[in-house]
Amino acid sequence: MKFGTKAIHAGQEPDPATGAIMTPIYQTSTYVQESPGKHKGYAYARGKNPTRTALERNIAALENGKHAICFSSGMGAIDAVIKLLRPGDEVITGDDLYGGSYRIFTKIFEPLGIKFHFVNLTDVSGIEPLISSRTKLIWVETPTNPTMQIVDIAAVSDIAKKHNILLAVDNTFASPYLQNPLTLGADIVMHSATKYLGGHSDVVMGALVMNDDALYEKLFFILNSCGANPGPMDCFLVLRGIKTLHVRMDRHSANGRRVAEYLRNHPRVAKVYWPGFTDHPNHEIACRQMRDFGGMISFVLKDVSLEETFRIASNFKVFTLAESLGGVESLVNHPATMTHASIPKPEREKAGVVDNLLRLSVGIEDVEDLLDDLQQALT
Ligand SMILES: *Cc1c(COP(=O)(O)O)cnc(C)c1O
Repeated sequence: MKFGTKAIHAGQEPDPATGAIMTPIYQTSTYVQESPGKHKGYAYARGKNPTRTALERNIAALENGKHAICFSSGMGAIDAVIKLLRPGDEVITGDDLYGGSYRIFTKIFEPLGIKFHFVNLTDVSGIEPLISSRTKLIWVETPTNPTMQIVDIAAVSDIAKKHNILLAVDNTFASPYLQNPLTLGADIVMHSATKYLGGHSDVVMGALVMNDDALYEKLFFILNSCGANPGPMDCFLVLRGIKTLHVRMDRHSANGRRVAEYLRNHPRVAKVYWPGFTDHPNHEIACRQMRDFGGMISFVLKDVSLEETFRIASNFKVFTLAESLGGVESLVNHPATMTHASIPKPEREKAGVVDNLLRLSVGIEDVEDLLDDLQQALT
């Protein structure tokens, strides 16, 4: 089946009891047992819930994976992956990560004895010198946040396989419509389903997708033991959101292209980060591993103070000043003080997150209204 058909149908069939077309919200914490231990695969809803099962099968199908596990948030999913590791283990990861990923790595897991190397993963030659017998995981985010650099997933996968290291890819920015890391050699795909999968800014959720049965068992054990499971109502919302994922992503990408080109020609804009430009340093890799370039764009304002940047960020009428991304509505964000505030300033600036950088999540509104809004906000 092709993507759009899978988005609408995979994992779902009319409810056997009633014929309901939509998977019901199984709002239950526990399930009847015929005799102790004998049940229909559902015993207690921290472990499994039928609404979640439908969603997990759907997300697995979209990523061309065998198994998916949903979590109560993207951070819950990341937490589960790092809990595969033990004190003394090491992780190689990017220097341009989602702020929450940087925070959980440095503030929660480093004190527990796991070491993280933060490097520029767009240069894959920097990876091998850091590998030792203690290296257990490479954690990739691509496109990176907020500077939209592209990491060559297949090239990193070759290195990971050669050294028998797990490769996990945070695929939140691309969504499964634009990029499928398992197909490029990753072992685990992670999503903040809060973003494009849910798509309507009305739910917080995370997901992991993998092919390996043993890896699935380990991660499911962590979910069931630690309890970061999503509720059935949230699973229903994401299941519904995904039905339009392919249609939304096409529009996000088309609007993103128009906005990126508009900004690039604007006299008040010094730099635009968008992997669709032919002179973007990783454009060729982006073309190889992504179907299109999505709706995430960052830009640097020319010669402005923090105050003036704040004034512009607060000036929008259609774009809303808010954290998060991937919803139908356009958002503007000031990474240095919002999404990336937990990263110390010197490291932040090294990664390009300067005080006059703004990040846009371009929604699926009429693009003329978005361009008009940019024009008035930038004057
Ligand atoms: C939002 C986000 C996360 C965290 O997900 P939550 O659902 O907010 O917990 C992780 N990675 C990326 C790239 C994100 O944008």
